Amino acid sequence: MTGHVLEFLGETKLELGPVADADGNWRTGRDDAGVLWLVLDKQNTGMNTISQDVIRELDQLITAAEADLPKALVIRSAKSAGFAAGADISGFAEMSDEGAVELLHQAHSVLDRIEALNCPTVCVIHGAALGAGFEIALACDYRIATPGASFGFPEVQLGLHPGLGGTFRLPALIGASDAMTMMLTGKTAHTQRAKSQGIVDVVVEERHVAATIDAIASGEIDKHEPGLTSRAFGFDQARSLAARQMRSQTEKKAPKQHYPAPYALIDLWENHGDDRKAMQQGEVESFAELLKTETSKNLRRVFFLRQTLKEAGRGDDGISHVHVIGAGAMGAEIAAMAAIKGKSVTLSDIETEPLGRAIKKAGEICKDKHLSATETRDALDRLMPDPHSYGLAHADLVIEAATERQDLKEEIYEGLRGKIKTGAILASNTSSLSIADLTAFAPSKTHFAGLHFFNPVSRIDLIEVVKAEATSDQTAQRLAAFCGAIGKLPARVKDYPGFVVNRALVPYMLEAMVLMNEGVSKDVIDTAALRFGMPMGPVTLADQVGLDVGLQVAESLSKSLRTPMPPISDDLRRKVEASDLGKKTGTGFYDWSDGPPHPDADLDDAPDDLTDRLILPMLNACVEVLREGVAQDADQIDAAMIFATGWAPFRGGPMHYAKQRGVNEITAKLHALQKAHGPRFAPDEGWSSLA
Ligand code: NAD
Repeated sequence: MTGHVLEFLGETKLELGPVADADGNWRTGRDDAGVLWLVLDKQNTGMNTISQDVIRELDQLITAAEADLPKALVIRSAKSAGFAAGADISGFAEMSDEGAVELLHQAHSVLDRIEALNCPTVCVIHGAALGAGFEIALACDYRIATPGASFGFPEVQLGLHPGLGGTFRLPALIGASDAMTMMLTGKTAHTQRAKSQGIVDVVVEERHVAATIDAIASGEIDKHEPGLTSRAFGFDQARSLAARQMRSQTEKKAPKQHYPAPYALIDLWENHGDDRKAMQQGEVESFAELLKTETSKNLRRVFFLRQTLKEAGRGDDGISHVHVIGAGAMGAEIAAMAAIKGKSVTLSDIETEPLGRAIKKAGEICKDKHLSATETRDALDRLMPDPHSYGLAHADLVIEAATERQDLKEEIYEGLRGKIKTGAILASNTSSLSIADLTAFAPSKTHFAGLHFFNPVSRIDLIEVVKAEATSDQTAQRLAAFCGAIGKLPARVKDYPGFVVNRALVPYMLEAMVLMNEGVSKDVIDTAALRFGMPMGPVTLADQVGLDVGLQVAESLSKSLRTPMPPISDDLRRKVEASDLGKKTGTGFYDWSDGPPHPDADLDDAPDDLTDRLILPMLNACVEVLREGVAQDADQIDAAMIFATGWAPFRGGPMHYAKQRGVNEITAKLHALQKAHGPRFAPDEGWSSLA
């Protein structure tokens, strides 16, 4: 063969012919043993996605394989990033209704032909095989995984379910119970779990992949056979019973009126789970229907919002050493995340206990993130408790996450003069202080900015990169790249009370407290917000954030904003004085001793305008920050609110929701609320430019 050497993870070397089609996405060739290799190498991207042209080319390659049957057929990826991230969803929007069904049928027939090929078919997976990528793997007889491989169907997060045969191939392989759980939750199965579930036949190091393929081609390895459980749901009654349970489980997390996809999947399985042909036909039709729903359109919008923020986080941050000041709730997790992602981190605090707790916390985060023992050891090696702050002298970035007090932060900054490197960036994690006010005390004004993480840092993707007037563009850019480097999404915002996210959230929480004073129960208030689609009601959120933190931010915003805020309730102040701070102390508005509250109240007697009183002030604040130029555009506000707070993603974000509902309708409603409840509801002047 003519030389075109592909190397997989520095181990398996494969000499293939030149790319069959110069514009194509597959590299192909037969090796000396007669094995046909189809290696996916999608053009112009670092990670494979399954697009229409990938499937069209695969169709031709399978036709050629059918005509000249190889000893075995191997499908794998040439990308070091992994196997495939799923379908290329940018193509979904262009699919017309009939077009979708036709394209899906064509793609199904290609996968069916892989399955029917009269030779062993093997998929080798390193990294992630998600969605349509996983479905290609499922169409093969065997799946070989290298350590670190993972499998999942994230379609529910896009308002869809698997559409390329996953709904019937996965249950047939591992049993309906595990398969439905995977598809309904969108959760990923990592290598060992995938092996124990039967998704994967063999797990081998990369250097043993070629020998394993040889063994398969020579008939030495048996295919995974599904156990008896896969047959347990052959009876309609058994499926109906299980389907009922699945619906009630799903309802707790994803109510049907907001998230139709999981229910469509359960219906599909209940009706056709014992009939592959009907299941296949049903899957195509149901997928095409879901594509048309507002939920799916909005969730796909959220996917692209994420891509845009990811893009903003690309580039070289020039940061290898980070020093974090303050090892409390925020500093500990910031330090852990930076260390996990490869930064050298030193962490200081005026107390020693927080440093010990921070190291313990870092270990827990590694576990939550499924890091291997070696990765955990390496991350913890990079994280150094540094009570004497020796790390300051080496740090490229100093993140200050000390107690929220202006005088204390001023003192810390003044103490940094002459101690940090020239060119090092100092960033404050403050929630409520003005970055401009702090700038005066920073060793370098141009190298100072806000870097506002959200709690818990290890789970919330968004970080607001706050640029004050004096902050240089380069500093803001490097901080955005740092966010990207530690796996987070940067939203570049201007210094403003509450920045974007807290500016919008504070009225939501304070209005809830006003409503409680009026006699509306906290369960009713939280239930109304949950039914709207918020991940947490405002009272639960206040308790979760910490009532002391909430009060501090609320006081700061009430003082510094020109717009009137809801009054701060005496009840909130009393609770803070009594140290009933919410989740962290076990009592706040709710009792947290038995875990988080689950409000689910009857809303029949709730005030008519309850939901609007909670939601519209958030939209009003979003319009204000847009008018003030705090965020670059409406999409950035939507992204910030969704990725920081979980703001009803199926609605596409607050600004998108406002436009969908109608600007005139919303301003009329705000006027009515203003008349009934006071000037805090007055529509922001920015609405006029959106109408
Ligand atoms: P925390 O009270 O949990 O931790 C603060 C830590 O700073 C403590 O361990 C304390 O000992 C330490 N500290 C105090 N003075 C210090 C000094 N001079 N030098 C070094 N360390 C010192 O507070 P937190 O919740 O982690 O908040 C820290 C910062 O993060 C604040 O600015 C806060 O506004 C911001 N923030 C908090 C949240 C949140 O939800 N908790 C969210 C976003 C941002």
